[in-house]
Amino acid sequence: MLLAVADAVIAAEPALSEADRNLGDGDHGLGMQRGFEAVKAKLETMSGADGIDKLFSATGMAMMSSMGGASGAIFGTLFRDGGKALAGREVFDGAALAVFLRAACDGVMTRGKAKPGDKTMVDALHPAAEKAEEVAGAGVGEALSAVAAAAEGGRDGSKAMIATLGRARTLGEASIGHPDAGACSVVVIFRTMSDFAAA
Ligand code: ADP
Ligand code: MG
Repeated sequence: MLLAVADAVIAAEPALSEADRNLGDGDHGLGMQRGFEAVKAKLETMSGADGIDKLFSATGMAMMSSMGGASGAIFGTLFRDGGKALAGREVFDGAALAVFLRAACDGVMTRGKAKPGDKTMVDALHPAAEKAEEVAGAGVGEALSAVAAAAEGGRDGSKAMIATLGRARTLGEASIGHPDAGACSVVVIFRTMSDFAAA
């Protein structure tokens, strides 16, 4: 599943860069691409026997050490902190997804100090984490489908927001009308997980 996410994010480079060009410096897709190339190299040295917690946390650490920029720290934290919270779990089910997303969202919000409404990737991640808790009792396919839809709703909601953090904050009201680039990445990640579970 993580390899599918890596391929999807790499393939989404043009769209993610375009989203960042509208509000920032246009490098978000390239950063995510570089990060997930490093993730693929790391995952190729691992196996399912390493445990789901280690697969996710190694994904985060590979992103942190390869990407740089705001999103290296932010997206690296998402996977590292979410992964650490899965320690001792053998199955990535609806309950594990909820635990992963709660720890991921808390970690990102602590590290980057963004709150919902600041027009960052938190605007997609936070509703995804809330939805995951609501559907924690469902099978992972159903849970991921609900989470992906919540992330998409959050990304769409970010269009109307005025950026108060990151590079886009200097645009003020001119940031209205475009979705946040990092929120677009969150959608690619969870939409791909959902498609993978459904396949
Ligand atoms: P940079 O801003 O260094 O060019 P990127 O373009 O790779 O980095 O990533 C920009 C994205 O990072 C934004 O669209 C936003 O979603 C996210 N981001 C920036 N700062 C924060 C923060 N403090 N908390 C959460 N997300 C953030
Ligand atoms: Mg950028």
